[in-house]
Amino acid sequence: MQDDRFVMSGYRDEDRESEISLRPKNLREYIGQETVKENLNIYIKAALQRRDALDHMLLYGPPGLGKTTLATIVAAEMGQNIRVTSGPAIDRPGDLASILTNLNAGDILFIDEIHRLSRAVEEVLYPAMEDFALDIMIGKGPTARSMRLDLPRFTLVGATTRAGQLSAPLRDRFGMVFRLELYSPEELAQIVKRSSSILGMPAEEEGIFEIARRSRGTPRIANRMLKRVRDYAQVKANGKITRLVANEGLNLLEVDELGLDKVDRNVLSTMIDKFSGGPVGLDTLAAATGEDALTIEDVYEPYLLQLGFIQRTPRGRVATAAAYEHLGKIPPVQESPSDSVQVTFFDEDQ
Ligand code: ADP
Repeated sequence: MQDDRFVMSGYRDEDRESEISLRPKNLREYIGQETVKENLNIYIKAALQRRDALDHMLLYGPPGLGKTTLATIVAAEMGQNIRVTSGPAIDRPGDLASILTNLNAGDILFIDEIHRLSRAVEEVLYPAMEDFALDIMIGKGPTARSMRLDLPRFTLVGATTRAGQLSAPLRDRFGMVFRLELYSPEELAQIVKRSSSILGMPAEEEGIFEIARRSRGTPRIANRMLKRVRDYAQVKANGKITRLVANEGLNLLEVDELGLDKVDRNVLSTMIDKFSGGPVGLDTLAAATGEDALTIEDVYEPYLLQLGFIQRTPRGRVATAAAYEHLGKIPPVQESPSDSVQVTFFDEDQ
């Protein structure tokens, strides 16, 4: 059900064509995430000078922010090959062992959704990351013995939407940990501009900004919206993306002027109407809205937090006054000490 949502930031089939052609090829083309880029630039240069493999790297942040893209860029900048796989695709320890033994020195191994590796598979990864070695068992029962195979020096790039779910021993084996942040509308506008010129679409600045503003801080959504607006422009206008065309095209997708869709608004209005604005726990909110708790946490919440529409408190999520106003509701009056009624007792006879 959730996958039908246009604003879902996870990968969908319709993204395939654009993800290949629009993906930045090097760090210079990669827009935003300045601190990450600055650090990577230094580490890549240093590793190249030493003719060494790069340290293992963990990238985390919501889907669609450019983790896979960054991994391919790291491989390109290092002049190495990349092997792409994902946590759920590696079923058994033997699957990982065969991937590892097929690597060449310097290769980048990208494991998406690395938090979904099973414990048994993770255990194969520990010596591989630390000592570039693979421990395999030969034989069975009392005669079984363990043998150590050397692996080439490779770089593991792990990506996850939930760093908190990674086991501590795995997390500790990454020399670099980078958190990707949601993009600002200005950065997204640069991304949309770049994409529209690659796809040969005439677009005005204002039309570009309209798309950027509504794409929830996420490049994947920005590119997806650009393509839908292109269709709209082609059929309903003269093919040019103006502010009006972008506006009308995006309204058709039922995405409001801040990029919120029906589900975001449902989450907010449930908090406000059923729980008096909160605090409400994640599971309760999930049950009340009929959405999955993890999806709320990974997909909706980061953007609602960035907009300042919700706050996380130790007692649960709270809807802010800005959320009330966005939904056209009246925020509750904040009780401040000066507003509270001062009751003083005094002797009237005095
Ligand atoms: P993730 O792996 O985090 O889910 P991807 O790396 O697949 O995200 O990024 C999705 C798409 O968004 C890419 O195909 C690329 O076109 C675009 N993109 C992501 N980050 C950037 C960026 N910093 N600059 C330009 N385009 C980007």
